[in-house]
Amino acid sequence: MTTITFLGTGGGRFATIYQARRTGGIYISDSARIHVDPGPGALVAMKKLSIDPARTDAILISHCHPDHYTDAEILIEGMTCGGFGRRGVVIGSKSVIEGENGFGPAISRYHRSLPESIMSLKPGDRVSVDGVLIEATPTIHSDPTSIGFRFHTSSGTISYVSDSEIGEEVIKAHRGCRVIILCVTRPLGSRISYHMNTDDAAEFVKSVCPKIVLLTHFGMKLLSEGAEKQAKYVEKESGVKTVAMTDFASVHVGNDVRIRRKGHRN
Ligand SMILES: [Zn+2]
Ligand SMILES: [Zn+2]
Repeated sequence: MTTITFLGTGGGRFATIYQARRTGGIYISDSARIHVDPGPGALVAMKKLSIDPARTDAILISHCHPDHYTDAEILIEGMTCGGFGRRGVVIGSKSVIEGENGFGPAISRYHRSLPESIMSLKPGDRVSVDGVLIEATPTIHSDPTSIGFRFHTSSGTISYVSDSEIGEEVIKAHRGCRVIILCVTRPLGSRISYHMNTDDAAEFVKSVCPKIVLLTHFGMKLLSEGAEKQAKYVEKESGVKTVAMTDFASVHVGNDVRIRRKGHRN
């Protein structure tokens, strides 16, 4: 059984600045506990859900935009028990770990010295963390070293595309996954470069053919038009079950996939 908890479902500049949705990233629990893209408010969201930062095994940061990395340093302190226990893994794009093209590094030299290991990955690189094989995937984004992730878990392959335009290479990297977490920033008919909107998401899902799609990283305009409406469009166009995630919802991936929203089931 693998559990994916959404510590936030907002993304892009203004949804983040005004916290139209939370932006704490995604927490995956399998044989390893993996926190992906801890943006502003990640620590507060963990406190609300009683997730102990000291039990995190790996912090993954796909690229050097603040909605994906700002809480990383305090969470590294959490993972390393205040910096007193050298444990855990930090994985990021080159921009996040080393600094590149005017972006980053996103983590101070001191915080980079705390975990047991820290590494930058490029598309195609693979690393195993406590039984979960993590593969870096390509993106087309304004931070050129941005990566996505493909997790080979006990419950099948879970893909996280991160911020990206649609492209043949990106599609190829995620084909065959069971669950796909897709960052959809803009609504239907409102395309912008370096991100996917709902039209792109439908086309992407049609080509990748996962079993279920979890939409997240909603921008202001998309939220004002309604996230559910975007999910319905993607599902109708692609024929693949598509769910617009909400803050603090969790997805239990076992023999079947069950979604539990905070306070109610669906
Ligand atoms: Zn973003
Ligand atoms: Zn970005």
